[in-house]
Formats: sequence, structure tokens, C-alpha cells
Amino acid sequence: MPQLFIGGQWTVAVDGQVREIRCPADGTLVGTVDEAGPKDAAAAITAARDAFDRGPWPGTPAAERGWLLLRVADLLERDKEKFARAESLDTGKRLVESELDMDDIAKCFRYYGNLAASGGNDRVVNTGVPDVDSRVVHEPVGVCSLITPWNYPLLQTSWKVAPALAAGNAFVLKPSELTPHTAIGLMRLLAEAGLPDGVANLILGAGPTAGAPLCEDPRVDMVSFTGGLVTGRRVMAAAAPTVKKVALELGGKNPNIVFADADFETAVDYALMAVFLHSGQVCSAGARLLVQDELHDSFVAEVVKRARTIRMGGPFDDHARTGPLISATHREKVEAYVAAGLAEGAVLRCGGSRPDDPALQNGYYYPPTVLDECTPAMSVVHEESFGPVLTVERFRSEAEAVALANDTVYGLTGAVWSQDIARTHRVASRLRAGTVWINDFHPYVPQAEWGGMKQSGFGRELGPAGLAEYEEAKHVWRNLAPQPQRWFE
Ligand code: NAD
Repeated sequence: MPQLFIGGQWTVAVDGQVREIRCPADGTLVGTVDEAGPKDAAAAITAARDAFDRGPWPGTPAAERGWLLLRVADLLERDKEKFARAESLDTGKRLVESELDMDDIAKCFRYYGNLAASGGNDRVVNTGVPDVDSRVVHEPVGVCSLITPWNYPLLQTSWKVAPALAAGNAFVLKPSELTPHTAIGLMRLLAEAGLPDGVANLILGAGPTAGAPLCEDPRVDMVSFTGGLVTGRRVMAAAAPTVKKVALELGGKNPNIVFADADFETAVDYALMAVFLHSGQVCSAGARLLVQDELHDSFVAEVVKRARTIRMGGPFDDHARTGPLISATHREKVEAYVAAGLAEGAVLRCGGSRPDDPALQNGYYYPPTVLDECTPAMSVVHEESFGPVLTVERFRSEAEAVALANDTVYGLTGAVWSQDIARTHRVASRLRAGTVWINDFHPYVPQAEWGGMKQSGFGRELGPAGLAEYEEAKHVWRNLAPQPQRWFE
């Protein structure tokens, strides 16, 4: 069956290209999908443009759009197991993690369904001018290109698709070429829920050939992109000539700050989860551990002891606690960062080389790795390795902790651990990051905004601002008693 979805029809790529998708856990063939190129991207934009300019969706009452999203949430819950398995096969992540993702995805659709149904952001303006009706109404931006990464494929997609639809837009989605299957499934559910043809379009394929046209085409009004910093810069440059609205969710190099008075056992436990969850392939990963000097030795020793016990394995191995990296290329990149760190003086405490377990030889496994005695100048400290690599730095004072934490071009997340409540709030307020956790790591909810400062990007997903991103505010001023003004008399 064809897998590109354009104008409500399933279709193959114009040039007949296909791509094999293999599971990163063992290299088995998951499926062969159609590989779109610029002509398919153009056709998808034409379909979205037509649906937006002439179709019923933008003018459908917001409440009805919301009800459709609530139906999608129900359908996702109905098909949860099917979606979770597909996500695990594409990404190699543990089935239990994919199942949690699916719950969060349904919640995201439910949140934006309810927000749209409750009337959104429109408001009456109190102008103080007599006989005037002044309102700010919110309209859809238009045709949106939605480009997503491979680490949380359908989750990142839902953060864009749900608010884009709630606001009344039409879109072309291009998921990562490595993980296309759950996006295909989502298109089926949107059609089943009754979304008009052409509102949701899907093209699959590589960034330069399928993604770049979605950023360049003058008929596109907005690009919402989640991915790496270097690609983000390209997306922004490609969108600039036609002054498209752009939202960028990029990488992070997130500090996890542990003061000496933190609850030891809990802080150790979370330090491991912060960085090694999904083998470190998480934009918000706590990859930089900053530990207060007097706690350093005992804390690092315990982290290392427990990191050594983390068992790697495929999506359906019940004993595994983490999975493979996404590809051979990505594993090589992680290895290069570790090698560079060691060459620059970091001390290897655990991990650092491929596993020799015969059962793991067909997958792209790399073990939890701890590099101690790191400094901000090391590339493994200030660049995103996006792998299971924890770098450890020491600090003495609160001011030094904040300075080290902010010494990065990124600003996505950060965390602070201490039992001194005033201190945690002081540090939280000084961290230049879009999300800060106090005595916690990684939680997020659809009601609260997510996004980056500095080169982690701009724009917000989730929360009310995640809807506003896909809206244009329009001020409508109505004079209820127009009279000649005689300005020129
Ligand atoms: P990537 O930048 O390589 O690819 C992301 C998407 O962009 C893919 O769909 C890819 O095909 C597409 N793309 C590539 N070149 C393009 C081009 N020239 N024009 C248009 N599209 C293009 O990123 P990735 O490796 O898939 O994902 C990992 C990155 O994503 C990490 O840096 C991670 O931090 C980031 N990420 C950020 C968040 C967040 O919320 N801030 C969430 C998840 C992932």
C-alpha cells in the first residue's frame, strides 16, 4: 500500500523511490516506504493550500475542530498497542517507553481538543472609546510545514499536529526518514476521525530532498521544526527569503546541578535517568552533571556503580532497561565525542566502548558512559552528543554552579537538587533555559509550555502558547456610529 498521503489520497512517490526501514536493535527489516522528493513535496503543498484556501476546515467552528481532536485521542487509545509496537520497531526503544509515549500523545490531542472547544484566545478589547466594538480574534496561520526528528517520532509530531489543527491550519508533515511508520498510522486516524481531505498531508523522505522544499516554497506560511541545531539554521535560512513564520525546537546540553545537601539516593537515581533514558537520545537529557565539590567523589562513585548495571537490549526484552542508538552513523558520532573528551583530559569511569555481548552485535548499542573531571572547553561537554554519555564537572559555590550551567549556547532544560528551598528557587530563576526542574528531572505536561532559549530555538510547544504559535492575532475595530471626522477642514 502506498504511504504518502496527499489531498486525502494514498500515493507512491512520483519518481518511484523507496527506502528500507530497519530496526536499530537488530537490523531486521521493518518495512519499505515510499521516498518523496521535491515533486511530491510540491504536490502536498498544493493540496494543503487548496484545503486551506477553499476547504471548510479553517472556517469550521473551533469547538467542532476540538471535538475532532478528542475523537483522534480516543482512536489513539484504541490503537495504542499497534502504535507502540511500530514506534519501538522504528526507534529500537523499549516497548514500555513507547507505550508511555502513546499515552502522552493521546493527552496532547485531548488537551488541544479541549482548548479549541473552550473558545481559544479571542478577546474583547476595552478601548475606552465610545461607540466602538474592538476585538482581537485569532485565525490560522495557513499552510504549515511540520518537520520532526526520530527520537520521539509521534510525540514530537503530536505537539505540532494537534495545535495546528486546533487553530484551523492545513499542514504537510515530514517525519524523520528513519522513523516514518507512526506518522503513516496517524494520517489514517485523522481520516477516520473525519478530517477533510487535504488538511493533513504526509510526505516521507530525506531532509535535503523532501524537507528543504517545505521550507523554501513561497506557498507555505509557517515552518515548525524540531531537530538538530545545524539543521535548524538551514531551515531558518531557507524560510528567510519568503519571511515565513518559523518555530525551532533544537538541541540541548542540559545541566543537572547537585548541591551537597541534596537527598543522596534520590539525586543519584534521577541523575542516571536524566541522562541514560532512551540511551541519551533525548533533547532534554541531563548530560552535564555539575556536583558540589564535597559531594563529588561519593556521588560519582554511586552513579558509576549503578550505570554499570543498566542492561541493554531490544524493544521486547523485558530485562532491558535501555535500547540501542538509532543508527551506525549516530553511534560513530557518539564514539567520536567520547574519544575527543578523553583526548582533552576527561577520565573514563565506565562504558566507553561497544558491548561484547553476542546478542547485541546486530544492533547499534553503546553503553552508559561516565566521563569525570570534565571542563567546559571540552567538545563533549558543550556540544550535543545525543548519546548515553554523562560528563561530570565540579563546583564550589552557588554562583559557580550557575555560571557553569549557563556556559553553553543551548538553553533547553536544567535541574537543581538541594534541600534548601530558597537556593533552589534562586538557581532556577538564574538558569537560562525554557524548562527548569527542582528536585526532579524530565516531567512535562501538555498544559505547560515547552521550548528553548538561546540556540535551543524559539517559539513554544504545548500549553496555550503552543496553540498561539499556529495563530495570527487580528484586531477587528468596528465603529458603531461612524460620523465625518472633517480632519482636513
Ligand atoms: P535532524 O536535524 O537531523 O533532523 C530533523 C528533521 O529535519 C528530520 O525530519 C530531517 O529529515 C529533517 N531535515 C534534515 N535536513 C533538512 C533540511 N535541510 N531541510 C528541512 N528538513 C531537514 O535531527 P534528528 O537527528 O532527527 O533529531 C535529533 C535532534 O533533535 C537533536 O539535536 C535533539 O536535541 C533535537 N530534538 C529537540 C527537541 C526539542 O523539543 N527541543 C525534541 C526532540 C529532538
